[in-house]
Amino acid sequence: MLALEPNVSTALGSLAELVYNLRWTWDPPTQQLFERISPRTWTSSRHNPVVMLAEPELGRTSRALGEDPGLSDTVASRHADLAAYLGASVAPPPRVAYFSAEFGLHESLPIYSGGLGVLAGDHLKAASDLGLPLVGVGLFYHQGYFQQKIDGNGRQSEEYPVLDPDALPLRLVCREHQPVEIAIDLPGRTVSVGIWEARVGRVGLFLLDTNLPHNLPEDREITARLYGGDTDMRLRQEIVLGVGGVRALAALGIVPEVFHMNEGHAAFLALERIRRLMAETGCSFDQARSQVRQQLAFTTHTSVPAGIDYFDPRALLAYFRPFREEVGLGPDDLLALGRENPHDGGAWFSMAVLALNTASRTNAVSQIHQKVATTLWSGFTTHHGDAPPIQAITNGVHTATWVAPAIADRFDRQLGLAWKTYPEMRSLRDALRAIPDAELWAIRNLLRARLVEEARRWTGRDDLLDPDALTIGFARRFATYKRADLILRDVDRLARILGNPDRPVQIVFAGKAHPRDEPAKDVLQRLWHAANGPFRHAIAVVDGYDIGMARTLVQGCDLWLNTPRRPHEASGTSGMKAALNGALNASILDGWWDEAYTPEIGWAIGDRDGHWGESEIWARDEADARATYDVLEHQIAPLFYARDAAGYPYQWLEMVRASIATVAADFSAARMLDQYGAGLYRTSENGNISQRDGDRAHTGSPSPRS
Ligand SMILES: *Cc1c(COP(=O)(O)O)cnc(C)c1O
Repeated sequence: MLALEPNVSTALGSLAELVYNLRWTWDPPTQQLFERISPRTWTSSRHNPVVMLAEPELGRTSRALGEDPGLSDTVASRHADLAAYLGASVAPPPRVAYFSAEFGLHESLPIYSGGLGVLAGDHLKAASDLGLPLVGVGLFYHQGYFQQKIDGNGRQSEEYPVLDPDALPLRLVCREHQPVEIAIDLPGRTVSVGIWEARVGRVGLFLLDTNLPHNLPEDREITARLYGGDTDMRLRQEIVLGVGGVRALAALGIVPEVFHMNEGHAAFLALERIRRLMAETGCSFDQARSQVRQQLAFTTHTSVPAGIDYFDPRALLAYFRPFREEVGLGPDDLLALGRENPHDGGAWFSMAVLALNTASRTNAVSQIHQKVATTLWSGFTTHHGDAPPIQAITNGVHTATWVAPAIADRFDRQLGLAWKTYPEMRSLRDALRAIPDAELWAIRNLLRARLVEEARRWTGRDDLLDPDALTIGFARRFATYKRADLILRDVDRLARILGNPDRPVQIVFAGKAHPRDEPAKDVLQRLWHAANGPFRHAIAVVDGYDIGMARTLVQGCDLWLNTPRRPHEASGTSGMKAALNGALNASILDGWWDEAYTPEIGWAIGDRDGHWGESEIWARDEADARATYDVLEHQIAPLFYARDAAGYPYQWLEMVRASIATVAADFSAARMLDQYGAGLYRTSENGNISQRDGDRAHTGSPSPRS
């Protein structure tokens, strides 16, 4: 250990508190501080500040703090800011436990695969801002999701670098210096589960981990990879998440009044809650079940049955035999909890059905998704009678995480800091009106230039992209229904649009295909060939998509393109992030865009009345591709390049203003949390947990024109 000056030692202590609370992931001044302390480490570690606190970096960090009093002062001031943030008042109960298989908080903690995880991360951050008494429960995957590599032929491969939890902003949960572990019985053995905690502002996130030396090698793998392994592995994983999660909270003395299942992966928690209640009170299974039901809330994110987890009934019976015997359920009664038709003895066990059968409140993630989900489950009757109506709570994004510092600083000056926590349309409109075209355009140019610079760095090609050209972004998971390659249907037409010398257009693509989704890898490969062949300068495909890359893309693009097969996109959130930063959206009228779209803020691709059958995929794709070309060629490019006498795209910038004000307000995670508070988290004992008064315009569903 080094002998440290007392002031350095104080600064190091404060720095550690800053590093180990992920509030820095939405506080750019703290990120800039980390970067100043050690620029090289910050870049090489994927923005992981824990590295500066461990050997061999610790010595360098101490020296930097000792030599530069300015740095120590900044540490002290950011530390005071964090303390003030953490000390603000907390909302009244109910206490909520939010269970999710993935959490996307930051690129340094790669335990997410896409939108579902990023939404969960934004949910925790917004809950922290609003002071809601909420904890998160998930899994610590020591091999994360995967790192994407694209080879010289455009084919994706996957790498699984092992994460060292000690080098991440996580702390092992201990009591009296001993790690807290809970136990789960699997056939023939007991698995121990350790608990890591990530602090997310005022919210705790507990991540369960079976990678303990005293577990069998195959059991250590249970929490190795997000969505890895076969269905039997997936079943064990979901047992650890649902059953283990409830046990972990009990071991920590946390007594939630609401258990929120973010997608069906965590639905086994219902069985564990029932078992515990029976053991504690001696009540019957049915009594326990109806009592537990009042505590359970379920959010469904899928539009198609293929998005749901199903398990082999034999495997399920094998894993849940002790449970079944303890609560006195016959095999068929247990399986019926997860069968759409309880009398279908051959059906696999559906986690979505288990969730619907055990939760008293269910929501879909946009208004159109509510209709789709209601139809999807229309033939289904829960054990309590008709399925409860599915509410619509449209997804939202955590403003402070996604908005570029250049824009945030400008709004901060005008509006103070509160707009980032709870963006309001009226104040944003006023603030935007006060920003002249010259200034708004300068910010947009700066952000686009930064994206171009980064894209050149990511690809190692410095002839790529033009910093002044209309720049389109398309970045998300490469699931085939999202149709990333729709734009390649007519390459001649695309070439005319991109290559118009008066109005050049360029596109940046990024995204991961699931390792076992070969058709999605084909899509990526087609795009890669276009980007490395005929469209060398105007299309970039960048590999290694993650939250950090997503930030650069949503901040730097002028137009965000979204072309899913309607109505398969439940919500989508990347377009909301882009809009916050002054990009305009052009999208199929699906998910959130179906309710956000007005001609003042962006473009609709196609219309709402295309009722295509599943067999008409070819004709539908053709029509949607044509609509995409038409809107790009005849509306978007002309508007972007229509400049006034001073050289500004004044009409475009008017749309940018309207889009930022609408989307930042109506599609924020703060609005979303308000609606969860008023709907899903309402319990009979507690009314509305929303802190805010009725003067907010967000008590109902978001209305773009409010
Ligand atoms: C926001 C985000 C997504 C979700 O994108 P959609 O357009 O909603 O599918 C996926 N991945 C990352 C890394 C994101 O940040």
